[in-house]
Amino acid sequence: MAPETPAQGPAPRYFTWDEVAQRSGRDKERWLVIERKVYNISEFTRRHPGGSRVISHYAGQDATDPFVAFHINKGLVRKYMNSLLIGELSPEQPSFEPTKNKELTEEFRELRATVEQMGLMKANHVFFLLYLLHILLLDVAAWLTLLVFGTSFMPFLLCAVLLSAVQAQAGWLQHDFGHLSVFSTSTWNHLLHHFVIGHLKGAPASWWNHMHFQHHAKPNCFRKDPDINMHPFFFALGKILSVELGKQKKKYMPYNHQHKYFFLIGPPALLPLYFQWYIFYFVIQRKKWVDLAWMITFYVRISLTYVPLLGVKGFLGLFFVVRFLESNWFVWVTQMNHIPMHIDHDRNRDWVSTQLQATCNVHKSAFNDWFSGHLNFQIEHQYVGRPGKQDLGQGPCVGGEWEQRNQSH
Ligand SMILES: [Zn+2]
Repeated sequence: MAPETPAQGPAPRYFTWDEVAQRSGRDKERWLVIERKVYNISEFTRRHPGGSRVISHYAGQDATDPFVAFHINKGLVRKYMNSLLIGELSPEQPSFEPTKNKELTEEFRELRATVEQMGLMKANHVFFLLYLLHILLLDVAAWLTLLVFGTSFMPFLLCAVLLSAVQAQAGWLQHDFGHLSVFSTSTWNHLLHHFVIGHLKGAPASWWNHMHFQHHAKPNCFRKDPDINMHPFFFALGKILSVELGKQKKKYMPYNHQHKYFFLIGPPALLPLYFQWYIFYFVIQRKKWVDLAWMITFYVRISLTYVPLLGVKGFLGLFFVVRFLESNWFVWVTQMNHIPMHIDHDRNRDWVSTQLQATCNVHKSAFNDWFSGHLNFQIEHQYVGRPGKQDLGQGPCVGGEWEQRNQSH
């Protein structure tokens, strides 16, 4: 690819951090740096297998650590990156931008290498098999409850609680497959990801990838992490953004009561009123037909299982009670690790600081581990982005897409 040349003179081979920082996408031009090499990703963002947004969040910045976290087989990915290479940092330029903590970054890279060498990133397949089995058993138990005890209020409620446990736990399990962290090949991770999120939960894998990798790339960064998109229209989040709103005299909600109305529109409503409907818009608008097919298998199966016992109205009642219970469970677990922490615009801090200031852990216990699907260890999870070993070298993308897309050019 021809370098983007400034108005005068031939294309420079060496660049400064300032020149890179100017290519953050505001003028449509996007560059980023990986291991001192400068890449022009302006055109590539649309073809990026992990989606255009997640890579664009690093435009104008050094992306070495997220590159390592999201791509395991760097060799393969670099082959495709060569066509985007336009130069490197000038020798007098430091390896880190001035906003980043050099010592912290170097120590973290050492720690990460040690953890990998110790084999701590290797998943225990028996654990994940038992995890899946316990979800399937709960699913069968929910159905048997109605079949054996009838459809009066108590069995109905017990069935709903069991099904909400199935939905919540399948949510945690799909997260591990989505991160490609269970199997050594991405093909199996993607297949199980589709099965768990699609067939067990009725949601699209591509939607989760789109949302979740942006979140990991820039946690709690306003306009980059979709998990804090409720600012400012529903809530005023974090001290910095809240003070900004105050200075601008913008008020979309009575924020002084947000600690009360959070309980009304956060935990109970997110899934039944928003996610449940948005996922269909997402797959249809983006033509994700494979995802839609997996989703349909869930809705057909659950209808065939429960409509004969409850009728259509009873089934719909059960389904939305389950989504309501699951929503409370999901929101509490997913918000507790990030929302109490620092929330800000992207200040281009180093990887460790970005993750640590936006993330907290929650006390370990057998119940907490199960209830949160081990997301109480959020700090460790955020750091590594995606544990796992050598695979096909994909980032957070849907199986085979990297190869397919790159074979075409
Ligand atoms: Zn994650």
